[in-house]
Amino acid sequence: MYDLHLHSSYSDGDQSISELVAALAAAEVRGISVTDHNGLWGDAEAAAAAAEHDLEYIAGIEISARAHGADLHILGYSHAWQAQVLAAGLQDTRSGYERRAKRMIELCTEVGYALTIDDLTAARSHQQQPVYMAYDVGRMLTRKHGLAVAEARKLTSHGGSCHVSYGEWALTPQAAVDLIHDAGGIAVFAHPGTVSYEEGDDTLNTILAELVAATVDGVEVYHPFHDSITTAHLQQYAQQHELVVTGGSDWHGPGRYHEGSLGKIGLPDEDWVRVGQRLQARFPQAASTH
Ligand SMILES: [Zn+2]
Ligand SMILES: [Zn+2]
Repeated sequence: MYDLHLHSSYSDGDQSISELVAALAAAEVRGISVTDHNGLWGDAEAAAAAAEHDLEYIAGIEISARAHGADLHILGYSHAWQAQVLAAGLQDTRSGYERRAKRMIELCTEVGYALTIDDLTAARSHQQQPVYMAYDVGRMLTRKHGLAVAEARKLTSHGGSCHVSYGEWALTPQAAVDLIHDAGGIAVFAHPGTVSYEEGDDTLNTILAELVAATVDGVEVYHPFHDSITTAHLQQYAQQHELVVTGGSDWHGPGRYHEGSLGKIGLPDEDWVRVGQRLQARFPQAASTH
């Protein structure tokens, strides 16, 4: 299978690119995309590591967006990203994440777990990576205040007392899809099941319709959060709206959420082929570089 949803230490994953790709090769995955949040920092390293392990590779990203009170993610895939276009389009997102992290720190401090932005900066795996994520806050709760990983995650994720939703800074679904297209990629609605879980089916259906109108290319069907009913529903939706189907483990490292999904949840060969065809159809002039 192919795993088109993976996180490294360039965003909120725990493993370096080389550790991550070695784990995927050991799990006998055939092709991969490292989809770190709101940046392409690991692309060159991931492409090289994939080649070393004889895995197929497509460069990916996971972009944050917000609509109708829901935080959501849009995946992008390309064989030839225009990295500067992406970085320029994500500037507000990155600064928004920093303000959000500072607000989360205030909330943590209010409930008795004092943290500073310097704590987060010092703990970074890669100093050039400018996005402070909720996970960075959670990790400091475990390191500085001795909270269990699950407890820290609960406090910093949806519904938790230190959690902050994305703000006005987040892209709309339309803007996220446009940015991905402008930068040479195809756009895929990530784990739609989390939107219905957090905000309800009506919100999900509204966002799905908006994304289809925004010419989204695909929907992530295979994901550890999706039960069999959600998977079947999304499969049918993709077929009705002529969307490509993608999937992956959304792996963040051993001991993190979606534990056990590596090498178990991913995309069958025929859907991987359709991803390539969709890219070819949208960017017929672009040569495949990997
Ligand atoms: Zn996501
Ligand atoms: Zn993800």
